[in-house]
Amino acid sequence: MKYNEDLLNKIHFIMERIVVFDGIDEVLDHIVKNAVALTRAEAGTLRTFDITTGKLGIKASFGLSKGFLSQAPLRIGEGIIGKVVKDGKPFMTSDLLNVTDCVHKKLAQKEGINSILSVPLKSSNKAIGCITVYRKAREKFTNSELLLLNIFASQSTEAIEKLKLLDDLKRQASFDSLLDIYNRGFLLTRLEEEIKRASRHDLIFTAIFIDIDDFKKFNDTHGHLLGDKLLVDLTKLIKSKLRKNDIIGRYGGEEIVIIAPETDKKGGTSLIKKILKSVNHHSFTGSNGDIRKIGFCAGVSAYPEDGKTAKEIIGKADQAMYKAKKDGKNKVVIS
Ligand code: GH3
Ligand code: MG
Ligand code: MG
Repeated sequence: MKYNEDLLNKIHFIMERIVVFDGIDEVLDHIVKNAVALTRAEAGTLRTFDITTGKLGIKASFGLSKGFLSQAPLRIGEGIIGKVVKDGKPFMTSDLLNVTDCVHKKLAQKEGINSILSVPLKSSNKAIGCITVYRKAREKFTNSELLLLNIFASQSTEAIEKLKLLDDLKRQASFDSLLDIYNRGFLLTRLEEEIKRASRHDLIFTAIFIDIDDFKKFNDTHGHLLGDKLLVDLTKLIKSKLRKNDIIGRYGGEEIVIIAPETDKKGGTSLIKKILKSVNHHSFTGSNGDIRKIGFCAGVSAYPEDGKTAKEIIGKADQAMYKAKKDGKNKVVIS
């Protein structure tokens, strides 16, 4: 057997490089670029299955126009790409516009694409997406190019899976698994960062400490599972009222803290009052139908007027929250 040493060296170099990136977007870009180079193609895409939409979306690309990339995501089994992923088998043609299965023919024609080669990204026995490379010329991809892309795809899948695992681990370390917001440790880290940022740029921010009213009674009446559900639904409701830069975390069992950057006490107070009103009117699931009139107490403090450390700021908001409890509950108190 005759080996092409230059090519083997190139493959070795590309594959070694895959594992040195630590961001998923960087890796996907690297994969597409090199899939194009290895197969002497002009353009390429990498699609993966999106669990939220249930479709295959383009996650990285090379050499394609914005118009082509704005194409609707494909269902599993839909079109050439959808079939490659569904069946876990490669596909190639040098006459794309005459393939009946091609669903984005107009876009392909506009882009001038005639030849494609698409291979699945196989993980264990299922495909998680695919790599597709494109040529303008009606020049069929060779069997060696197909083989090369297949080998490259299996290495790529391993790298993608490894990074996903790493992302999950990172997420587990900083997020509360039930509520999908920061856990206490990471919330405090973010608060420290916010203090540094505010002190450096002479900015203010507001902290809000929330504690659900009579939650023990809710658990006793409706059970712990519906208690968990109430916590999840309440957190979602609160999150829906926050701005992109606001920080939210679980401080303890049924205690939630919000940090609102560049917001004064007045702004923070009106925000939490608005949230309390919508919680009061929301229907939560109880053991015998919907439950209304769930409430909470909240305390509001601000940097720098209530303190310059995380402990002081949280402490002041907690004290204000406690005043609200003593004052009859379902209330917001300003420190
Ligand atoms: P108050 O109005 O004074 O805040 O009364 P409360 O009953 O809400 O407060 P307390 O601190 O006495 O009790 C908090 C309860 O929250 C006790 C605990 O069982 C419940 N709790 C804490 N974390 C969770 C959780 O993750 N799931 C469920 N279901 N309950 C939780
Ligand atoms: Mg409590
Ligand atoms: Mg409580």
